[in-house]
Amino acid sequence: MATVSPLPPGEEIGLPQGGAVVAIEDVTALEEAEVMRRDFVANVSHELRTPLTALMGFVETLRGAAKDDPVARDRFLAIMEREAGRMNRLVGDLLSLSRVEAEERRRPTSDVDISAVLKGAKQTLQPLAEARGVALIREGEDGVMRVKGDPDQLTQIFANLIENAIKYGGSGGEVRINVARIAHEPVLRGPALRVEVSDRGEGIESIHLPRLTERFYRVDTHRSREQGGTGLGLAIVKHIVARHRGRLKIESEKGKGSRFSVILPAS
Ligand code: ADP
Repeated sequence: MATVSPLPPGEEIGLPQGGAVVAIEDVTALEEAEVMRRDFVANVSHELRTPLTALMGFVETLRGAAKDDPVARDRFLAIMEREAGRMNRLVGDLLSLSRVEAEERRRPTSDVDISAVLKGAKQTLQPLAEARGVALIREGEDGVMRVKGDPDQLTQIFANLIENAIKYGGSGGEVRINVARIAHEPVLRGPALRVEVSDRGEGIESIHLPRLTERFYRVDTHRSREQGGTGLGLAIVKHIVARHRGRLKIESEKGKGSRFSVILPAS
C-alpha cells in the first residue's frame, strides 16, 4: 500500500517556514492500484454492455420486423429474458464482491457448523446436478464441525465451487465433496477443517491456475458465458476465504479433473 506521510512544515529539508511537504512512498503500488481500478471499470462496462446491446437490438426487432410474428416474438422475448438474467447475475456478483471486500478486515464471529453449511450448498445445487446427470457425493468426516464464520458467506464459497465443478467438470459424471479434520495445519498453525470439491472433468491447464481467482478471468470466455458465468465466482471465493483467515488451494490436471480445497481454522 502507498503511504502518504506529512513532514513538519519547513523542517528537515530547509523549506521556508509555513511550507508543507508530503512524501509519497511507493508510487509504483499507487499506480498499480490505479491501473487495476481502471481495468476493473473497463471490464464491468464491457460485461454490462454485451447483454445491454443484445437487449436493445431485440427491442428494435420486436418493434419492427417481428411485430406481427408471434413465433419470432416469443423466441426473442426468451433471449431477452436470458440477457436480462445475465445482467442481474453480474450486478448481484458485483455487489457480493464489494460487500466481501469491504468486510475483509472484520473477522466473522458466529459459530458455524460446516456440515450444515455443506448440506445447504449441496441441496441448492442438487437440481443443477440432476439436470446435467452429475452425482453429488458427500464423503469424509461427519458430525458437527465448527468454525468461526459467516454462514451465508461460507455457503456461498461451497455453492460456487460445487456449481463450477458441475458446470466445467460435470463431464466426469461425479462431483465429490470431502471433509477432513486436520489436527495441526502448518500454515494456519492450529487445528483446521479441509473441504475439497473435486471433479473428474476436463481439468485446467497449469498456466491458468495462478490467475483463476482474478476478477473476470476465464479459461474460455465463450464457454463461461454459455454456462451463465460472470467470471467473478472464484474472486468472491478468494475474498471470503481471506476474511475467514483460511487458505484456498487449486489443483488441476488437463484431461483428469480439478480439486479446489478450502482450509479453515477450526474453532
Ligand atoms: P465463471 O463465472 O466464469 O464460472 P469463476 O470465477 O467461477 O467464473 O471461474 C473462473 C474460470 O475458472 C471459469 O470460467 C472456468 O474457465 C474455470 N473453472 C472454474 N472451476 C472449474 C472446474 N471445476 N473445472 C474446470 N475449469 C474451472
